[in-house]
Amino acid sequence: MVKSGNSKGFIADYAIIGFGISGAMIASELLLRGRSFVVFDAMDQKSASRVAAGVINPVVYRRFAPVPRAAQYLKKAYLTYRHLEKKLGQDLLHSISFLKLFDGLDERHKWQLNAFEPGNEEYMNSHVFEDNFKDSIRNDFGAGEILKAGWLDIPLLLDSFADYLKSRGQYIDVQIEEDMIDYQNEAIQICNSSMNVRVKIMVWSNGIKVNSGSIFGWLPFKNSKGETLEIQSDTLSTNYLFHKGVFVLPRKGLHYVGATYNWKDDTLETTEEGKGELINKLNRFVLKSYQIVSHKAGLRPATKDRKPFVGAHPELNHTYIFNGMGSRGVLWAPLLAEELINFIESGTSLPDGIDIKRYFKHYTK
Ligand SMILES: Cc1cc2nc3c(=O)[nH]c(=O)nc-3n(C[C@H](O)[C@H](O)[C@H](O)COP(=O)(O)OP(=O)(O)OC[C@H]3O[C@@H](n4cnc5c(N)ncnc54)[C@H](O)[C@@H]3O)c2cc1C
Repeated sequence: MVKSGNSKGFIADYAIIGFGISGAMIASELLLRGRSFVVFDAMDQKSASRVAAGVINPVVYRRFAPVPRAAQYLKKAYLTYRHLEKKLGQDLLHSISFLKLFDGLDERHKWQLNAFEPGNEEYMNSHVFEDNFKDSIRNDFGAGEILKAGWLDIPLLLDSFADYLKSRGQYIDVQIEEDMIDYQNEAIQICNSSMNVRVKIMVWSNGIKVNSGSIFGWLPFKNSKGETLEIQSDTLSTNYLFHKGVFVLPRKGLHYVGATYNWKDDTLETTEEGKGELINKLNRFVLKSYQIVSHKAGLRPATKDRKPFVGAHPELNHTYIFNGMGSRGVLWAPLLAEELINFIESGTSLPDGIDIKRYFKHYTK
């Protein structure tokens, strides 16, 4: 809960700048621990979190092997989203049978070999699916099932969580500019003509909006653009997610098709090239007709080494970053949020590879 202070305005332990899935997971972790905090969000309807499919996939396609720390990520993600479902009274998390359609016999054999590796059987079903789903799917080489997959309704989570926080006076709809912030030794003051908030700790979870001149602008981001379609089909299965180059996910009465990866175009505009790529890939395995209902684009806040950016600013006291979730924000953010708060409050080291101190040599004032 936020205290209404004296002449200095509101007082809280934490300020969270940005309320995509990253900021929401920091907020969820702080709620669990009973900390006071205020969220500031510019409510960007084109943010990555609002364009994303929300898929939780614990397997790396390129290697046919589990994501490092898959068990820990999944455990915390499922616990957190189920807990938020209860708190917010919403159906947020949906399980799905995720079928990776093989490109050829090599892929099929690799899957079968890897599925028997110790530790992999939890995530990779060794049984190969030969079904073509009533002639709706081209499945020439069989499909491997990724286990423990699901999808999260991120917009519903963000909207219902924001309403909950607003009702407690913990959410302010505003774009924070750096000149609103006064970094002091013991506290951080955020003010403009209509607000004045004093906090002990600030977490920046503002996704792609880290400008080059800003306090974390020296970090090597490498955002990647993704375009998606929503299609309407009466024949595609509503029980399975199919993946072959792109995936098609049954979601809210439609099918979500995603996504392209483009590291050169950093605009949020949809393109005919992106749409063409999605349709070409889709038509390789979807055999029945469909109608395109929408076409969207977003930018994934991704990093050069494909690892998240978590940790303390090299110089500014009490100032942290929680960003760089790439294409795995839904799986990663709950556990990483817990680890960041442990780091801030107990000094526990961050796991290898995620702490931004790996880039401190890039930092200049
Ligand atoms: C097409 C596409 C499909 C994807 N599919 C998946 C998927 O299936 N599964 C998955 O796990 N990930 C997926 N991703 C990736 C996922 O979207 C990201 O990992 C995740 O959403 C990043 O969340 P974030 O909160 O860090 O950033 P964002 O979602 O960008 O949120 C940042 C927030 O900060 C706010 N903000 C920014 N600057 C300020 C400021 N100065 N003041 C106040 N507020 C500010 C913005 O308004 C926004 O609300 C996909 C991404 C794309 C583009």
